[in-house]
Amino acid sequence: METQTINAAFYRGNKSFAVEQTKAAPPSENEVSIRIVYCGVCGTDMHVYHGNMDARVGHNRILGHEMSGVVEAIGSNVSGIEPGQKVVVRPLDHCGDCPACNAGHQHVCHKLKFLGLDTDGAMQEIWTVPSHTVHILPDDIRMDHAALIEPLAVACHDVRLSNLKQGEDVLVIGGGPIGVLVAMVAREAGGDVVISEVNESRIAIAQKLGFETINPAEVDLAAEINNRTGDKGAEIVFEVSGTQPGVDAMTACAATKARIVMVAIHAQKPNIDLFQFFWRELQLLGARVYEGEDYEKAISLISAGAIDADTVITDVSPLSEIQNAFESLDASPTALKSLIKVGDLS
Ligand SMILES: [Zn+2]
Ligand SMILES: [Zn+2]
Repeated sequence: METQTINAAFYRGNKSFAVEQTKAAPPSENEVSIRIVYCGVCGTDMHVYHGNMDARVGHNRILGHEMSGVVEAIGSNVSGIEPGQKVVVRPLDHCGDCPACNAGHQHVCHKLKFLGLDTDGAMQEIWTVPSHTVHILPDDIRMDHAALIEPLAVACHDVRLSNLKQGEDVLVIGGGPIGVLVAMVAREAGGDVVISEVNESRIAIAQKLGFETINPAEVDLAAEINNRTGDKGAEIVFEVSGTQPGVDAMTACAATKARIVMVAIHAQKPNIDLFQFFWRELQLLGARVYEGEDYEKAISLISAGAIDADTVITDVSPLSEIQNAFESLDASPTALKSLIKVGDLS
């Protein structure tokens, strides 16, 4: 592969993107170059857009990590990956030599680099990544649906760590993109899932996906969960809202011995009712990103059609319209997952 001129969307600070031409260099010996087809817009990308992460990403960064694409070229040391294969990237680059890496927990490496934030990402026509981050997709997978594999892998990791058993009552607090994906994976694993959400359009999407919803702005969430479960509470609670009311609800709705999974990123320290952890022997589990097996699970769910991807994906815009896509996503109360169409399949 020779050096190619490609289009890329650079984050320039101040809620602005510039789509400009740049050079895609050939892959080095342990890298793979991927022709990007779709790239999803993550909540984290919206944080960048709002200027909250400028110190980390700067003003010359190509964002994007929720992608699908086709292998364009491979480095000389790469084996098991061929040009033309459909792929996704698990956007984590670990150091390989810290206590977490040495213990086999590369996804929480002390020096973890997140591709698309700490390095350039997938909102460009050709993205070059370390070969160890690449997962090969089945040939018949839909590439728009495949762009959901990264956030779906988050959900697979969360549900795996919860140790969910068939028939357990599950409460998902927060019905945004990750919340509904967690709910779908938990239901697929046999959980009896209810979603708590206040936004009317998100409630409508959750119901369209077949979930019962509770709006805690209208009813007492804990009383409602107790009603539904014969005063038992939910054995598993996923806190996906990132809010103080969500943190209050996670202990108030939990059954004796419940597992509470902390999915949301709480930038501020919330108040937590720690007494309940003692009194009812609750467990609080942290869950961050994903591991390889979570990616393989997400790939199998998408390719089996087990996830209603068409309902989750609410908008698709071309790369040239990325500025509009972020502006309307920022203003829209109805959007759930927006995709950027970076290139065509061919
Ligand atoms: Zn993401
Ligand atoms: Zn490490």
